[in-house]
Amino acid sequence: MAYHSPCFTHPSFGDLTPDRVIIFDTTLRDGEQSPGFSMNLAEKLRMAEALVSLGVDVIEAGFPVASKGDFEAVSHIARHTRGSVICALARSGSIKDITAAGEALAPAERKRIHTFISTSPLHMKYKLRMEPNTVLELITAGNKAARQLTDDVEWSAEDGSRTEEDFLCRCVEAAIRAGATTINIPDTVGYATPKDMEHIFSMLRDRVPGADHVIFSAHNHNDLGLGVANTLASLHGGARQVECTINGIGERAGNAALEEIVMALRTRHDCYPYTTNIHTQKLLKVSRMLATITSFDVQPNKAIVGRNAFAHESGIHQDGIMKNAATYEIMTPESVGWSRSSLVMGKHSGRAAFREKLNALGYDTIDETRFNDAFTRFKDLADHKKLIYDEDIIALVDDEVRNHDHIRFVSMCVNTVSGHPSHVQLTLSIDQCAVEVTATGNGPIDAAFNALRQAFAHEAQLLLFSVAAITEGTDAQARTTVRLEESGKLVDGQGTDADTVVSAVRAYVHALNKLLIKRTRKKPKTIREREGNI
Ligand code: MN
Repeated sequence: MAYHSPCFTHPSFGDLTPDRVIIFDTTLRDGEQSPGFSMNLAEKLRMAEALVSLGVDVIEAGFPVASKGDFEAVSHIARHTRGSVICALARSGSIKDITAAGEALAPAERKRIHTFISTSPLHMKYKLRMEPNTVLELITAGNKAARQLTDDVEWSAEDGSRTEEDFLCRCVEAAIRAGATTINIPDTVGYATPKDMEHIFSMLRDRVPGADHVIFSAHNHNDLGLGVANTLASLHGGARQVECTINGIGERAGNAALEEIVMALRTRHDCYPYTTNIHTQKLLKVSRMLATITSFDVQPNKAIVGRNAFAHESGIHQDGIMKNAATYEIMTPESVGWSRSSLVMGKHSGRAAFREKLNALGYDTIDETRFNDAFTRFKDLADHKKLIYDEDIIALVDDEVRNHDHIRFVSMCVNTVSGHPSHVQLTLSIDQCAVEVTATGNGPIDAAFNALRQAFAHEAQLLLFSVAAITEGTDAQARTTVRLEESGKLVDGQGTDADTVVSAVRAYVHALNKLLIKRTRKKPKTIREREGNI
């Protein structure tokens, strides 16, 4: 597997062994820009810290020139996050972008500027309206400008997988000459096959002068469900960096999922003899953190982190698993963070047991106030529910760690008599002041939502309302999802409680808090809309 020339030393990672794969996470950039997945500053910082503890090599933190919020997020992550290289995106053709990226990254311990420009005939003609030679000039100018600000520069050929081969070679050569140290060839539109991706990387490594002195990188989208397969094939072609996201979030059908790539490399090391620095036992925790922050759960059958990924329902399978787990399990649930033996919690469990349970579930950084709130709610739940499952506790804590600080649910009294309107008396805390209102409605949930509209005036439309039981039995907690829309902005909120009406109010309050964050964002994503993305 001779790959790099022996003299190759990466500006951020030093000497790399030929089997080492750099994990470049773009959850906070490609992931965050997909509809409904926006995060606030505090949430981005929490995710960045989680990515560091997971062992991610490079964190793409955002696109600083796109908005003030993006700039601030990159800048805060650069200042407060230590351990991973922090990367910011910039268009090759815009010195303003590159300057903004450099400024936002200034406080970082190790930083990377990532420039990109389209290279396919379709994108150059219709999107950029540029001649190929102009694109080549901008590649050179952009990478040179970025190299003035940091030694670690990545260049991406947007729509690279649909770029004509000779021209792609010339672009990559220009980027290397101008100082790029990582060359990314994205399958921007999710069109490539594994064979295509393997070929592109081996072709570039064969043909481009200087190819031995850079790291090649894959960035595959999942429009045909091939993101992970294309990424693995790219490694066979000689790529040694993979760009991916937690839970596979990203533009349209998403990006290749980090957890799937990492576990494929580990489980099938016989086929993919490569190593990463990822601590796989933390995969589930980070996946859940992202789902909590964005209110988008992964589907139950999602590989590695889905609720059913290690569940064995059929009797034949269960029997096999009990005799020897390898009969139906290709990797252990523990290796990705699931706990097999669950410590059953109930009304006699104390603070120490509750804390131990939270640690086991991955919530080891929760602050004292939120721990106390979660513990109080746990005791309340234990009073009327005999067995408390991990899912119950996860739902409780997720509710607490969300940033609902502006509006909080305090208490509610519901009166329902069949055949008559329901009455609700609701108390909220709005900016730490108690607000109490009463309202009526067609059933308790309608009455509760009317009360919410009175307590906190807003114009948002309710687009979706759904309730599901977290576990089995009539004493199970309900999880409610509420989707609100206000002037074209969509938000999803989630709430959990043993009382369905309370869970609905918590979900509505969560959605309202998210809407307030969105209201403070002035000009959302104009550059992204105009320029598209890699
Ligand atoms: Mn992308």
